[in-house]
Order: sequence, then structure tokens, then C-alpha cells
Amino acid sequence: MIFSHTQISQYLRCPRSYRYKYLDGWQEKETHAAMAFGRSFEKALGAYFLEEDPAAALFKEWGAYRDTPFEYKKADTWDRMVHQGVHLLQKFAQDDRVQIPQPNKDLQVKLMRSLPGDNEFVAYIDALGKLDGIPCVIDWKTTTSRYPEEPAGLLALDPQLICYSWISGIPDVGVVAFVRKQQPGIQYLRATISEEQRREYGRLVESTVDRIKAGEFISHSGIRFPQNGCVSCAHLGLCLNNQPLIDANLIRRAGASDLDWLDDIVE
Ligand code: SF4
Repeated sequence: MIFSHTQISQYLRCPRSYRYKYLDGWQEKETHAAMAFGRSFEKALGAYFLEEDPAAALFKEWGAYRDTPFEYKKADTWDRMVHQGVHLLQKFAQDDRVQIPQPNKDLQVKLMRSLPGDNEFVAYIDALGKLDGIPCVIDWKTTTSRYPEEPAGLLALDPQLICYSWISGIPDVGVVAFVRKQQPGIQYLRATISEEQRREYGRLVESTVDRIKAGEFISHSGIRFPQNGCVSCAHLGLCLNNQPLIDANLIRRAGASDLDWLDDIVE
């Protein structure tokens, strides 16, 4: 079987939700504009590093969703998002803090790692390059809220970045967060992942895979204020046996786990 960080983190959040998605095939419908916009924006960044026109790439990619009936957050509209995107791309070029010397091979890099028992782990890394001159694994994020920067060192606890460091063997990691607010801005964040953190992540993956293979899918409901894990869970309709909620949020597909690597591309 092939595992990914998305699968491991979904299992750790709620094993029942993992079973619904990866074994029973209940996939979340794409109803939110932000996810599709994030994918389009990443294609535009790829165009920038390939010395093509990033704004044209954004219009082309995001243009494919112009008439899609997405749910837009607050004041967001298709037009507002594309204008914010173009502004952020211009600012990113002016800042010139990120270099990807070999964009043809160092964008959307697929890395595989063998796990015990004939299993494998796959990750798609957004970019391998330099942030402020320091070689690192780079993750792009499009978001509407700024990443917390305090207390110092917080970013080094991000499990996805620890995963990228573990699979690549590269200690330095960076996040470039494109923040779509009233005044769009870019955060350039860096952290160093220790050898011990990488070892620990490897152990976490192996023990989680063992529990999945043993068929342990006990629910971890999180419905106790202020935690609301169930309220934001796509599978809530299944747990509540609420057909309208199921119809609104989910679509059932056979062989869902075969397509899991797609989740890692879009994250
Ligand atoms: S609704 Fe709660 S218990 Fe049910 S799958 Fe989601 S997180 Fe788990």
C-alpha cells in the first residue's frame, strides 16, 4: 500500500473518518473556491519560475472555474481573487527572495520512501530551492489569515514540514504564505527540523500504518467546546446518519485510496 502525510494525519485526527474516506470511498466534494484558487495560483508560480507570464497562467487556470458554483468566503468573488493573485505574483517577483535554479525538475517533486512490510510513502514537495539564499524544501500556501510567527520556533512543529524534511533528508524548510487579505501580503518563514524530529516522524508513520493494517478505526469525535473536530469534518453526515448532509458534502468513489496522492498535490 502507498501512504502519504494526508492519510497519516487524517487517521490521527479520526480513524473513523480515515475509514470512510480511504476504505469506503466517501470523498469530499470540492465546493470551496479557495482550494481551486490555490491550485491555480501554484500553476502561476510554476510559470513564473519557468520565465513564462505568471498572470496569464493564473487567468488561464482560474478562468476554468469562472462559472463553477463554488462557495466563496465573505467578500470573495472570482474577480477579487484573481486581482489579489496578480498583486501577490507581482510582489513575489519584486521581493525576489526565492530561487529555484532548476524549475523543470525542482517543482512538484515526487519523493518515495520504503516502509516495512512492502508499504511505501509518497510526498509531493512544492519546490526545492533557496529562500533568502538558504537551500531548503519550500511549501507554497495561499491563505486568508497570516501564519502565527510567535512564539519563535513554532513553524518547526508543523507536521507537514517535518514530513517533507523526513522524506527528503533536508533539515531546512520554508513556507511562503500568500495572504489574501484586504491588503495582500507575503510571509517568508523558515525553520530547521532536527534529526530527532525526523526519526520521530518515521516512527509515527510506522506505528500508524500498523494500526491501519490491523483494522483499528475507532472514532475520535471532537465535539467538546472549544474543539469542534466533528463540526468541520466532511464525514459528519455519515456519523449522524443525516442524508442531506451526506449529499451536500460527499461523493462516493470506488478505489479511493488509489487516488490519495492527488490530495498531496493540492495541499
Ligand atoms: S464526524 Fe467526528 S467521529 Fe465522525 S468521522 Fe468525523 S471526526 Fe470522526
